[in-house]
Amino acid sequence: MSSELMPLNLSSQDGNLIIVWNDGVRMEYAASLLRNSCPCATCRAKRDEPAPDPLGLPVLSIEEAAPTKVAGMKPLGNYAYNIAFSDGHATGIYSLELLRELGTATVE
Ligand SMILES: [Zn+2]
Repeated sequence: MSSELMPLNLSSQDGNLIIVWNDGVRMEYAASLLRNSCPCATCRAKRDEPAPDPLGLPVLSIEEAAPTKVAGMKPLGNYAYNIAFSDGHATGIYSLELLRELGTATVE
């Protein structure tokens, strides 16, 4: 299928991800957005938990306090990417469909 959307170029900028798609659209992905949208089972379960007590004191670990960055990406076949983050989390498999949804189109 030649009409399928594929990333032509992947790069990172300030720890965020930039994908240029084969239809010419350039999309930017904040690392924190990608991290919060991680589709792995662990993160999905975490997001389904009830919100923490708003009156409780926020306790931030060092990892949480530091801005998350994209540490690496590797293609899985030609349908998805495995993204590793600077907090050590690297089990998320991001389908091209999901990446296309999450991105914000930008003009260079
Ligand atoms: Zn995850």
